[in-house]
Amino acid sequence: MSRPEAAAAAMAHEDALDYDVVVVGGGPAGCAFVRTLLRDPSHRRLLLIERATFPRDKVCGDALTYEAIPAIQQVFPELCAMTPSASTTTRQLLVYPGPREFTRHGTPLDVIPRLELDGALWDAVASRGVDTLQGARVEDVLLDGGRVRGVRLSQDGRERIVTCRLLVGADGSRSVVRRATGPVADDYVIHAVRQYARGLPDTARDHVFLFDLEHRGYFWIFPFLRDGERWANVGYGNATDSRLLKERFREYCRSPEAARHLAAARFEGRPVGFPLNLARLTWTGRPRRAFWGPGYFLLGDAAALIHPLSGEGISFAIESGRLAAEVLLDSRIPERAHGRVYQQRVLERVRPAFLSIGAYCAIRLPMVLPAPLRRAYLGLAWHAHRWLGTVEGAVGPVGIARLRPRAEHWLLGLLLAALLLFWGGVALTGRPLGSPYGVRAVLFVALGAGFCLLHARRWQGSRFAWMFAALTLTCSALAETVGVLTGRLFGAYAYGAALQGRLGGLVPIVIPLAWYVVSYVSYAAAAVLVAPLPGRRAATPARALSRALTAALLFVGYDVVADPNHLHRGGWSYPGGGVYLGVPLQNFAAWFVLGLASFLVVERIRRAGEPRPGSGAATLGVLAYVGLLVHESLYAGWIAGHPEASVVGLVAAATVVLVWRGRPMAALRSP
Ligand SMILES: Cc1cc2nc3c(=O)[nH]c(=O)nc-3n(C[C@H](O)[C@H](O)[C@H](O)COP(=O)(O)OP(=O)(O)OC[C@H]3O[C@@H](n4cnc5c(N)ncnc54)[C@H](O)[C@@H]3O)c2cc1C
Repeated sequence: MSRPEAAAAAMAHEDALDYDVVVVGGGPAGCAFVRTLLRDPSHRRLLLIERATFPRDKVCGDALTYEAIPAIQQVFPELCAMTPSASTTTRQLLVYPGPREFTRHGTPLDVIPRLELDGALWDAVASRGVDTLQGARVEDVLLDGGRVRGVRLSQDGRERIVTCRLLVGADGSRSVVRRATGPVADDYVIHAVRQYARGLPDTARDHVFLFDLEHRGYFWIFPFLRDGERWANVGYGNATDSRLLKERFREYCRSPEAARHLAAARFEGRPVGFPLNLARLTWTGRPRRAFWGPGYFLLGDAAALIHPLSGEGISFAIESGRLAAEVLLDSRIPERAHGRVYQQRVLERVRPAFLSIGAYCAIRLPMVLPAPLRRAYLGLAWHAHRWLGTVEGAVGPVGIARLRPRAEHWLLGLLLAALLLFWGGVALTGRPLGSPYGVRAVLFVALGAGFCLLHARRWQGSRFAWMFAALTLTCSALAETVGVLTGRLFGAYAYGAALQGRLGGLVPIVIPLAWYVVSYVSYAAAAVLVAPLPGRRAATPARALSRALTAALLFVGYDVVADPNHLHRGGWSYPGGGVYLGVPLQNFAAWFVLGLASFLVVERIRRAGEPRPGSGAATLGVLAYVGLLVHESLYAGWIAGHPEASVVGLVAAATVVLVWRGRPMAALRSP
C-alpha cells in the first residue's frame, strides 16, 4: 500500500481521535509549546503524546545555561523557584591538552537533573487540563498528498490513529516526525554518554570541560547538590568517532585532570549514551532543512536545534516551543504564513549563538588548527588571558567566548584592522600605501566616531552619548575657528590642502570629529584608571575632579605625540615654528585647558549615582585609547623621524596599560 493510501485507510480507522493540534514529545520543547499555547484559555483542541511515563530520565549533561534559566522562567513562571537553584555557579574551567587551563567567570549556570526538570515541566502542562497520552509511542506519520494529516501510535499493545490540522514534532534527536517528513541524510548526528557520580567534595562547584581536540569532543563534569550531597553529571562526547565512546569516557574519568575534581566520588549505575542532532546552518545563516512543512512544525532537537559546538539544546528547545506557539496565538499572522514566520523567528533567536565567533574561537578553532599552530594559539591565548583575564570579555578563547560582538566591537575591530593594514603596507614597502592622507584621516575618524558614539550609549546611555558628542564637537569647532582666525589659542597655524570640506571655509570637518574621538577615548580610559575601588564611594567631587584631570592629561598626552605627526603629514603647519618638533608649547597648554574645561562639564552631565564602567566597556575604552596612541607613536618613530615623541608615546601607552592592569577587577565591574 502506498503512503497516501495507508493514510486514507488509517483515517477511516474506527479507533481514531481527531484534534486541531497534536504534539509528539513531552520534553522541554513540547512542554514549552503547550504551556505557551495555553496562555489563550480558549485554546484549540490539543493533544500531547509522550512515549515515556513521567517522571522519566533523559540522557543529558543537565546544564542550564544563562539563556536556559530565563527561558524557563518566562515560559513556566510557576517554576521560577526551581532555577537558579543552590547548584548555580558562575565559574567554568576549560582545560585544553598541554594542559592549558582557563577559568571563565561569567553568567550563571545551573544543573538540574532532567528527571526532575522534565518532570516539573510535564506537571506544569498536564495539571492545566490538557489532553495527554503517556506511554504512547508514535510509530508513523500519516501523509496525504505531501501534507501531514496525523499519526499512528501504539499504546499498551493497541494501535490508534490521531488526525490533526497541525502536527508538532517535539520528539527529540531521533524524531519520527522529522524522519517521516523529509530528508535526514544531511543531519549531523553525534553521540555522547553520561553517568552520575556522588560524594564529591563540597568545593567541587565549577563546571569543568576537558577538551579532546583530536576527536573534536570534550569530557565534562557538572556538579550539583542533591539532598545536601554534592553530585556531578559526568559525560563525554565527540564528533568524529562514536566507537569506543564509553572506553574513552572511562579513560577520562581516570585521568589526573578529572581525578582532581572527582576525588572520592562514587559512580552510580552505568554510562548511558544518546545521540545529538547538531544544528546545521549555512554561512548565510539558513538551515539545511526547514523547521516546518505542510501541516507540521519541528521543534527543539527534532528541528536539529542543538548548538553545533557546545551541544547545548535545552534553551533552544524551550525557545522554539514558545516561538511556535506565539505564532499560532498571533491573530495578525495568516495561517498560510505560520511556518515561515516561525522559522524566521527561531533563526533570529538562534543565529547569534550558533554562528558565534566566540564559541568558534574557544571550541572549534583549537580543534581544526594543525598541532603546532594550535599550540601557539593556545599559548598566546593563555598568556593573554592571564594578562587580561581579570577583566571579563577580554582576549583569549575564554574571554572572547563571553564577548557578544556588537556594532561598537565591529567598528573598533575595523578601525584597528585598518591601522594594521596601514602598518602592514609600511612594513612591506617602507612607506604609507594606498589612499592619500586626507582620505585616510576621514576613514579612521569616521570609524572612530561611530565607535565612540555607540560605546558611550552602551556605557552611560543615549543622553550622555549625544551630550558628550555635542559638547566636544561644538567646543572644538569654536576653538579651532577662533584659533585659525586669530592665531591666539594654539599659536599661529594654517590647515594644509590635504584636508578638504571646511566649516565656513575655515576648519576641516574632520578636525572636530577627530577632537571628539580623542576626547572620548581619553575620558573612557580615564574613567577606568580612576574607577573607585570596592567599598569606596563612587560619586565624590574629588573623584570627578581626578577623572577630569586624568582625561585632560591623556588628551594632551595624545596630542604631544600626534601633533608633530600631522605637521609631517601636511594636515596643518605653524609658519612661526615651535620649540617642540615645530609645535609651539602654547598649543599643548590650550589643549589641556580646553580639555579639562570640557571634561568638567562632562562630569556635570553624568547622571547622579555615577554608574561605574562595566568591565567589557572599560576594556574597550582603554584598548581604543592605547591603540590610537601606539599608532601615533609608531608613526612618529618610523615615518616622521621623531624618535623622542615615539618614546614618550610608547611609555605613556605602557603606563596606561600598567595602571589599568593594576586595578582590581571589582573596580571595573558594573554595580
Ligand atoms: C549526552 C547529552 C548531553 C547533553 N547535555 C546538555 C546540556 O548539558 N545542556 C543542554 O542545554 N543540552 C544538553 N543536551 C541537549 C539536550 O538534551 C536537548 O537539546 C534537549 O533535551 C532537547 O529537548 P527536546 O524537547 O527537543 O527533546 P527531548 O528532551 O529529547 O524530548 C523529546 C521527548 O519526545 C519523546 N519521544 C521521542 N520519540 C517519541 C515517539 N515516537 N512518540 C512519542 N514520544 C516520543 C521522548 O520520550 C522525550 O520525552 C545534551 C544531549 C545529550 C544527548
